Amino acid sequence: MTVYAAPGTAGSIVEYKSRYDNFIGGEYVPPVKGQYFENITPVTGRPFTEISRGTAEDVERAVDAAEGASAAWGRTPPADRALVLNRIADRIEANLEQLAVAESWENGKPVRETLAADLPLAVDHFRYFAAAIRSQEGHSSQLDGDTVAYHFHEPLGVVGQIIPWNFPILMAVWKLAPALAAGNAVVLKPAEQTPASIHLLVDLITDLLPPGVLNVVNGFGVEVGKPLAQNKRIRKVAFTGETTTGRLIMQYASENLIPVTLELGGKSPNIFFSDVAAADDAFYDKALEGFTLFALNSGEVCTCPSRALIQSDIYDDFLGAAIERTRRITTGNPLDTATQIGAQASNDQLEKILSYIDIGKQEGARVALGGERLVHDGDLAGGYYVAPTIFEGHNKLRIFQEEIFGPVVSVARFDGYDDAIKTANDTLYGLGAGVWSRNGNTAYRAGRDIQAGRVWVNNYHAYPAHAAFGGYKQSGFGRENHQMMLDHYQQTKNLLVSY
Ligand code: NAD
Repeated sequence: MTVYAAPGTAGSIVEYKSRYDNFIGGEYVPPVKGQYFENITPVTGRPFTEISRGTAEDVERAVDAAEGASAAWGRTPPADRALVLNRIADRIEANLEQLAVAESWENGKPVRETLAADLPLAVDHFRYFAAAIRSQEGHSSQLDGDTVAYHFHEPLGVVGQIIPWNFPILMAVWKLAPALAAGNAVVLKPAEQTPASIHLLVDLITDLLPPGVLNVVNGFGVEVGKPLAQNKRIRKVAFTGETTTGRLIMQYASENLIPVTLELGGKSPNIFFSDVAAADDAFYDKALEGFTLFALNSGEVCTCPSRALIQSDIYDDFLGAAIERTRRITTGNPLDTATQIGAQASNDQLEKILSYIDIGKQEGARVALGGERLVHDGDLAGGYYVAPTIFEGHNKLRIFQEEIFGPVVSVARFDGYDDAIKTANDTLYGLGAGVWSRNGNTAYRAGRDIQAGRVWVNNYHAYPAHAAFGGYKQSGFGRENHQMMLDHYQQTKNLLVSY
């Protein structure tokens, strides 16, 4: 096991600048209004860098730079763009440990996850879209003796991308890789809680892209995100964040009639049918492990399996074993590779989770485990930690219906297949779901009947680049990942040429 040194202390492999400005036209540019805000690590609750507080004027500058760069980048042959994306992937891979530690420090997530999942996935996403863009080459057909139809993909131009804080680098890469592959120039707005990880990434790859193709404006939602989504010169907004913010983004974008992709919140069910407990074997063990994944990334995952539905005849035994399994999860310093649950990303998020724990108690749900803030010793004492928490109740309670975005699972029993599906679908959201059964027929039917964009059967939380991801209902629309994403970042033109 390794404990990485905290940035700013001896032996750390991460070095931050004392201040990050906006990144526009290939260089760092101070914000027009000259304001900055503190960037705080949730690991200790202390500030570690300053970040520019952008405004509409900075957005205009970034769009100017992106517009200036977009035509040449859009006409760069796909093979050359693919080469750039592959080089970006190689660069991230070569600096994976440094980025993994930085992201853990800024977001509070365990470094074991950033090392094993977040950063390797980011590498693979760039490689995947490098290959995907090449697959579009060579589309033409002969119509009659004298006419040929050419099917063209053209980039949209300048696109705006607004991302959340829960997977800072991966959320950026899910958007950047297809947009850049398709030949667009980008203005990216990081979440105000986690901009430094984005700048470490940008610093690493900036020499690989023409200036202006990738621009970053830091700041707050209404001050930067809103003018970006309203900008008359952008051709698309791709947004990931809360459902309430998604509604606003759609309103802003409607002023200019530009397309939006909305990746929003969730309240995902994780369904355990009674046959999972037919034997005390590896499958049963895997299902128990699947239950504990509500605490992955401290529960700050849009597809967090935050509602566990357990069939009545195994309810007591399965839940008892799941509680014991959850009790064994190690919490503490995110920079320790032994830690499974780190810090919540911000003080606001900590407060929100604790308020939902209170709501659950007031609604009469039973706390089966946790239900409190965790206070660690030493430097971590000022950090934002919550004990993994298991509630028992029923699906009408607020803790079953509203997104908490913390290591909190709400557990209810169900009586048969129809009851399971009805309860699973009794939610405003439709992002993810888990189904656990040894019976292929049950599992497949449930996969079909659940209203969600992603259903994991006998596993949970895999996010390969080629698997389309996105929501039903108020979890949003549009998809990310999969080569279909290229269509979301391109216009299709047909040219009919007669000789
Ligand atoms: P958020 O909506 O508060 O913020 C997301 C981004 O939008 C940030 O960059 C923020 O500054 C910006 N923003 C806020 N208000 C804005 C406004 N009025 N106009 C323009 N931009 C604005 O979300 P968050 O708290 O950062 O992230 C957590 C949410 O993201 C959760 O609901 C989670 O489920 C969701 N999420 C969804 C997915 C997915 O793929 N579906 C993935 C990750 C996170």
